[in-house]
Amino acid sequence: MNQQALILIKPDGLKKSLTGNILTRLSETKLEIVAAKMVRVSRELAAEHYRHMKEKPFFEDLVKYIQGELHDRRKVMAMVYWGEDAITKIRQLSGSTNPEEADPTTIRGSYGRITTKGLYENVLHTSSNEAEAEREIKLWFQPDEIIVDLYPAKTVTLEKAKKIVWA
Ligand code: ADP
Repeated sequence: MNQQALILIKPDGLKKSLTGNILTRLSETKLEIVAAKMVRVSRELAAEHYRHMKEKPFFEDLVKYIQGELHDRRKVMAMVYWGEDAITKIRQLSGSTNPEEADPTTIRGSYGRITTKGLYENVLHTSSNEAEAEREIKLWFQPDEIIVDLYPAKTVTLEKAKKIVWA
């Protein structure tokens, strides 16, 4: 069954120059990249992305982490991968949430660490199931940023909407 998944290369992955390594590992899945962009993450986006972690004692650190405040890299690379069993294939390749428990051959097992404050820095985010994938993809991407039709979309006419165009 074809599925889609959101992948984020987190600020620690960018700071450690792991983009190429991570993309190479992900290419083993033979899945297609159908959307990709660099994102400067607002507090609102970070808090909404991690809304299921709101009650955790490390929630504030998690928000700072994905915003890049812990790594002086205020950006993440966001992508949508699409294809047969995308979610399972990507989760297997990325490894367990806790980088010390992750199989050492996985991406998180190879490159993740636990900080002295106890936060798991695990270099990438991957959607955990279809419902989360839909919620996350719609949160991070607009329909016209994805080159295939993943979810129903509609055309609306915006009046007086401001947009930056090339000068
Ligand atoms: P995943 O990213 O594997 O889907 P979660 O959604 O449960 O996992 O957690 C979101 C992120 O919060 C993790 O990727 C990790 O950076 C951090 N995290 C999760 N659990 C812990 C924990 N027990 N201690 C410290 N950091 C954690």
